[in-house]
Amino acid sequence: MMIKERTPSQELLTLRSLNLRMNLTDQQKKKLLRLESGYEGELKFDQMLKQLGQDKYVLCDLMLEIDGSYFQIDTVIITSQMIYFLDVKNFYGDFSYTPEKLKSRDSRPDYKNPLHQLHRGITHFKQLLHSLDLSFPVSPYVVFINSDFTLYEAPLHEPMIFPTQLNQFCSQLVKREASLDKRHHSLAKALCNLHQSTLRFANPPDYEFNQLKKGIHCLQCQSFSTTVKKGKIYCSECGAYEATREGVIRSTEEFKILFPTEHVTSSIIVNWCQLDLHQKTISRILKRHYEKRGETKGIHYV
Ligand SMILES: [Zn+2]
Repeated sequence: MMIKERTPSQELLTLRSLNLRMNLTDQQKKKLLRLESGYEGELKFDQMLKQLGQDKYVLCDLMLEIDGSYFQIDTVIITSQMIYFLDVKNFYGDFSYTPEKLKSRDSRPDYKNPLHQLHRGITHFKQLLHSLDLSFPVSPYVVFINSDFTLYEAPLHEPMIFPTQLNQFCSQLVKREASLDKRHHSLAKALCNLHQSTLRFANPPDYEFNQLKKGIHCLQCQSFSTTVKKGKIYCSECGAYEATREGVIRSTEEFKILFPTEHVTSSIIVNWCQLDLHQKTISRILKRHYEKRGETKGIHYV
């Protein structure tokens, strides 16, 4: 049973949006591609876990904190006998294992050895369980999801699951039959509550409101060739329509991701959306969807 669904990270959403609204540096473009690929791999793994049924809890993408240190987990699976702590990697190509890194055997860049991050994460996770007075056996693994990934000289004793072992891993999970009890439920609930959803990612790119392209991009083709037509947002590139309200909210959410400390006001959203819509229309949409705060000139929406 999926207890916490996966959504794109703040960093991925920020770079996706900036990619449409300004020129990213080559380094930022590479980062965006890497995040997209990682996210794609994680979704693929989530899909595989759908077969697990009701008596296993799956929690995706947790950001947790213990004693001021933050750590992230791609997937936690809670079964009656074991807690699986999994880091999912969508690496592609041929690599050789070394304790420090996975060395590319072709022209691709090397990767840091993902076991280091896994060990760091699992140490923090065990500390966190201890601080919650919860005791469970925990099994950490790096899961390589991409079937076009090969790791030469991989040591047998390290906790890694390779693409050819994934089906077997999932089948074994499905087989465990004892039901989850209150303790498992408490753990799942505690982890959801402790998830740091508003934590800003490290080293955000530099940008300002004035330098970004304004407008609502099309939901389907992402072009900015959108206008208001018959009370809807119409894209002249691909012919897609979107309800005005939904387009404005989607764009406002994008604004909130890019400018998390700015107040959302109707005048700023009018400027942001650049559509032929009256400010009163925008205010009405914002008022319906968000909570209104402040009075007169200080009115904003959260
Ligand atoms: Zn379009």
